[in-house]
Amino acid sequence: MHKILDVIVIGGGQSGLACGYYLRRHKLNFLLLDKEEKCGGAWLHAWDSLTLFSPAEHSSLPGWLMPKSKNLFPLKQEVIDYLCQYEKRYELPIERSVNVENITSENKIFKVYTNKGIYFSKAIIAAAGTWSNPFIPKIKGIETFKGIQIHSANYKNPEEYRNLKVLVVGEGNSGAQIVAEVSKVTTVKWSTRKPPQYLPDEVDGFYLFNVATAKYNAEKEGKPFNAANYDLGNIVIVPPVKEARSRGVLISSGSFESMHENGVIWSDGTKEDFDAIIWCTGFGYATSFLKNIVSADERGIVKTEESKAIEVPGLWLTGYGSWTGYASATLIGINRNAKQTCTEIIEYLKQI
Ligand code: FAD
Repeated sequence: MHKILDVIVIGGGQSGLACGYYLRRHKLNFLLLDKEEKCGGAWLHAWDSLTLFSPAEHSSLPGWLMPKSKNLFPLKQEVIDYLCQYEKRYELPIERSVNVENITSENKIFKVYTNKGIYFSKAIIAAAGTWSNPFIPKIKGIETFKGIQIHSANYKNPEEYRNLKVLVVGEGNSGAQIVAEVSKVTTVKWSTRKPPQYLPDEVDGFYLFNVATAKYNAEKEGKPFNAANYDLGNIVIVPPVKEARSRGVLISSGSFESMHENGVIWSDGTKEDFDAIIWCTGFGYATSFLKNIVSADERGIVKTEESKAIEVPGLWLTGYGSWTGYASATLIGINRNAKQTCTEIIEYLKQI
């Protein structure tokens, strides 16, 4: 007879851990499954110089504050250390190197198929993030390009681009931060579809979280909201971006329509050659293992009410972004979302 758990959480990154904290507090019988060999979630794959947008005290999971950093914004390795210590501190049951491939459901029991065997549970939390699903636009001629192509998900540091002519594509935070550091070792052009927009210098991730929360609450209560004209999607002026701005390298060359074997053709028809292209064009959502139990759009978005899947009783999705709960893709934002998710799961388990 196989063991049936109350809850299986797919993903042991920051959102899976936050859910684990609340599931443990409620003494549920649960397990986290993560395909990585090591702790740290997506932060394991981030580029070497990536830091948080907010100070440690504003970047914490439930229960235990991230230890203070000597840097204003904690480094990637400090975030990984925090996540690794967090799961040990709360003795969260995690099985690693377990890749969830498919899920089916019968008589209110989920059957979770993995490379290490089949697991059973009454409820599922999908918390698999975005990093394993990088997005590169389908540009005409992309397959003919003979140079180096890499997505920001796999970018590590500027060294391998030294003396190459590099094109960075994408107007978000990743694009700005990668232009900032690659431009220190070689010639870089930056392609953006619209002129890059920046937040005021004094705005960091914590400030953004507060604005986002106020906006969320106002919308929920049907009240008007004026976010002081801050667009939450604009680029945060972290120190490397500020430094690059002072060197005058954060200049957009506009967009390109197609590619050829040596480079791109800009929208005015001019051809330009590049040795390497770094795509900072965002991510889809890692939800493909749910394909047999729920429908998703082409980016992997499932219909949810906050984190609860509308079409499938017993299924929740957390940490993917605003569609699974406001600011849920951040360390500070996942707390409220994980707490509410676990409260809903407890109610659900009482009813089945
Ligand atoms: P992840 O950290 O991606 O964890 C998901 C886990 O699930 C991974 O370990 C993955 O291997 C595993 N997994 C995936 N698929 C499967 C499967 N099929 N089976 C088993 N396991 C699976 N966030 C902040 O809070 N502050 C910041 O300052 C910040 N800055 C950022 C800057 C940049 C440039 C970027 C791109 C992101 C930033 N983020 C920041 C966001 C943050 O990195 C992610 O949103 C966060 O890692 C999401 O956490 P998660 O637990 O949902 O997903």
